[in-house]
Amino acid sequence: MDDNHQSSETSDRSDLVSENGKNSKSIVCQRCGSKVLCEGTALFAEKELFLPSMRKKSNLSTTEASVDGETLTAHWFVDDMFTFENVGFTKDVGRIKYLICADCEIGPIGWHSLDDKKSFYIAMERVDHV
Ligand code: ZN
Repeated sequence: MDDNHQSSETSDRSDLVSENGKNSKSIVCQRCGSKVLCEGTALFAEKELFLPSMRKKSNLSTTEASVDGETLTAHWFVDDMFTFENVGFTKDVGRIKYLICADCEIGPIGWHSLDDKKSFYIAMERVDHV
């Protein structure tokens, strides 16, 4: 096991998470700036989710077991897909749909399980906060 990861990013989250646990800034696509969520619409949530590496949508719907990616723990949680300003989805990958930018289709920026229609997660590291 590798315990050398220093979580130096924890400190700057207070800029992004307001006192009531919601996003204090708008959430936009890192690549094209398309708005994903307005400020104050998502809840900060810690959950371990595996997301494949960022790529174009056409390469995301693979069911290969050897997909490279990373486990992310800091997310924005939304319980209704109509809360999103703009968001796209990949085809089902098993019981998962990945969320992608609606405009440039880069992703995944988030995660959704078909087993829970009321939970959508946007990975903090994969979006910009403006
Ligand atoms: Zn985009």
